[in-house]
Amino acid sequence: MLKHNKLSIRGPAQKAARVLTNSANRSGAAGRSVLAAGRTAAATWRRATLGLVFPGACVSCEAEMGGDSSPSNDVPLCANCLDEMEFFDDATCRQCGAPLPKVGQGADKMAKDAARNPGCYRCRGRKYWFQETIAAGLYLGRLRELLLRMKRAEGNALSLAVGQLVWRQRGEQFAALEADVVVPIPLHWRRRLVHRTNSAALLAEVFARRLKRPLAERLLRRRRHTASQFSLTPPQRWDNVRRAFGVRGGHHLNEAHVMLVDDILTTGATCSEAARALRNAGAARVTVVVAARAVH
Ligand SMILES: [Zn+2]
Ligand SMILES: [Zn+2]
Repeated sequence: MLKHNKLSIRGPAQKAARVLTNSANRSGAAGRSVLAAGRTAAATWRRATLGLVFPGACVSCEAEMGGDSSPSNDVPLCANCLDEMEFFDDATCRQCGAPLPKVGQGADKMAKDAARNPGCYRCRGRKYWFQETIAAGLYLGRLRELLLRMKRAEGNALSLAVGQLVWRQRGEQFAALEADVVVPIPLHWRRRLVHRTNSAALLAEVFARRLKRPLAERLLRRRRHTASQFSLTPPQRWDNVRRAFGVRGGHHLNEAHVMLVDDILTTGATCSEAARALRNAGAARVTVVVAARAVH
């Protein structure tokens, strides 16, 4: 716990501690209380890195991973499972994170168009409160299965594994963002009671650790309970989460660049509404980071 505390107030994090100041208390003490809220996740992380959570088996298919198939970089997934995931390369929409067509009619034109204009054919004209999205892969196949399992009670180890995986795919890009603080999408307390795990918070913990940036796990809050987005149509999804988020305790974000973390981005409604709360609290820039982009 002490170690994590040091991480939160030293080095680049000092800048972020200044970023998170409370409008009623500019001394920064309130900002630190927000940063300290990440400690529970840090405890989970330590259990994982002690080897209590990651066994010598693939977290997805439970195949034994010894010798050559044992990854050297903390991603406890076997080669077969990794082969069943589709990761994106650079050809993704900067605004919504969707993959851009690589081959076929009009692919070149679409790629050029997406570089010139904000948004691709999926998201153009849509007003998001975040400025950009980075997604590691497609919400399909093995990655989809892992993300669904992450939401269940046994999901903590899986969330950390997926966090490592996303870091391996996109870590360089995350570092280049030079974000001031890492903020996960929160669950409403009612849903937390059921799931007992917030996979977005665990992913955010992995990225914050890797980036040596503070995690502000409790900065955002759900103002109200919202229906699950799963069964809703796109317009219903936007209505369902409209103004559902707030920034806790009147914190002012002083022009910060926030890395906003969630597991999946589908319409972008949830992340956009969370970004609205962050921007209204003074954030200058919000970059959404997700493990997977769902496209229809
Ligand atoms: Zn496997
Ligand atoms: Zn797009």
